[in-house]
Amino acid sequence: MNKAIKYRVYPTTEQSIMFAKTFGCARKIYNLMLADKIAGYQTTGKIPMVTPAMYKQEYPYLKEVDSFALCNVQLHLQAAFGNHFSKARKKRTGFPRFKSLKNSRKSYTTNNSHGTVAVSDGAIRLPKIGWVKAVIHRQPEDGWLLKSATVSQDPDGKYYVSVLFEIPDPVRDHVPDLSNAIGLDYASDGLYIDSNGNKGTNHKYYRESHEKLAKAQRRLSRMQGSRKGEKRSANYEKQLRKVNRIHRHIANQRLDHLHKLSTEIANRYDVVCAEDLDMRSLAGRGFGNGRATMDNGYGMFLGMLGYKLSDRGKYLVRVNKWFPSSQICHRCGKMHPEMKDLKIRVMDCSCGHHIGRDQNAALNILREGLRVLNESLAA
Ligand SMILES: [Zn+2]
Repeated sequence: MNKAIKYRVYPTTEQSIMFAKTFGCARKIYNLMLADKIAGYQTTGKIPMVTPAMYKQEYPYLKEVDSFALCNVQLHLQAAFGNHFSKARKKRTGFPRFKSLKNSRKSYTTNNSHGTVAVSDGAIRLPKIGWVKAVIHRQPEDGWLLKSATVSQDPDGKYYVSVLFEIPDPVRDHVPDLSNAIGLDYASDGLYIDSNGNKGTNHKYYRESHEKLAKAQRRLSRMQGSRKGEKRSANYEKQLRKVNRIHRHIANQRLDHLHKLSTEIANRYDVVCAEDLDMRSLAGRGFGNGRATMDNGYGMFLGMLGYKLSDRGKYLVRVNKWFPSSQICHRCGKMHPEMKDLKIRVMDCSCGHHIGRDQNAALNILREGLRVLNESLAA
C-alpha cells in the first residue's frame, strides 16, 4: 500500500532558484520529447522511444538538474501515450498536450536511491538540493519505505514536497481485542493520566529548553531594536536568530516526544478512549495556566493517536468533554459534585472507594468510551 504525505517546505533563495530551474527543465524535456514523438509518428506511423539523454548535448543546462526529475517526465509521457491509445475506454485520455509556461503546474518528481531523499526533524533531503527546511507535521513510521518525492510550487508561491511511502499492508483480519483498552484523562500539568494511574508527561528537557528560551528572550528585549520603530542593531538580529532557533528546537522536541508516546500506545492497545477537549476554550478560560495548556499539545497528541490507531485497524474513541468523568465514583456510580473543584485531588466515596481524581476520571472515560464503541459497532 502506498501513502503520500505532503509537507510545506521553506527553501533558501539558492534552493528556490534550483527548484525553478528543475521545474523549467522538466517542462522543456516534456515538450521536446512530445514534439519528437509526434514528428516520429507522422513520418513512420510509430511512436518513437525517446530518452532525456538524447537532448543533453544540445541543451547542456539539462545536466545541471536532478536527472531523476527528467526520467520521471519520460515515464509520465509514456504513460500519457499509453492511456491515450488504451483499448480500455475507461483509461483512455486525450492526446498529450504541450506545456506552456503559464498553463502548467510547477512541479517535478524525484526518486529515492539509498537515502538521497529523506525526511528528518524539520527538514527534507532532495537530490541536487540538499536539506530543505520543512514543517514535519507527521513523521514516517518504522517499516515505511520512502519511494519518491514530488516538489511543487502553488500559484501563491508556496513550496510543497509530497513524499510517497510504501507502507506494509494493514493486517486485514486484525480483530481488535476490545478488552485490550485504555482510558486517558487530560492533565493540564502534564499530558494525560491513564486508567492504570500512569502519567504521560511532557519531556523534562522541554522545561529546560523553555528556561533557555526565556533567558534568550530577556536578553533580546534589552538590545537595541526591541522597541517598535527602533533601528535593529547587529547584535539584536543575531540574538533574534538565536531565539528563533530555540523556538524551532522546542517545537521539534515536542513533536518528537508526542510521536514516541502515541506510537507506543497505538502499538500496545487496541482501543483508546480519550477525553475530547476544546483546546481553544480551555486556554481562554484560564484553566490553570493558559500557556501550559496550549503548549502541552494534547490536541496534537490525540490527532496522532487517531491516525496511528486507524492505520493499525484499531480504535480511538473520543469521549465528549461534557461527560462528568471526574464526578462519578468508578466503583459504585455515585455522583460527587464536589469534585468540580479542581483542588480536590482524591475522591473519597461512601462506598469505601478511595482513588486519585485523575485515575478515577480515566477509568470512567474508558468505560464510557467502550460503551460508545460497542453501541456504534452494534449499529
Ligand atoms: Zn462509590
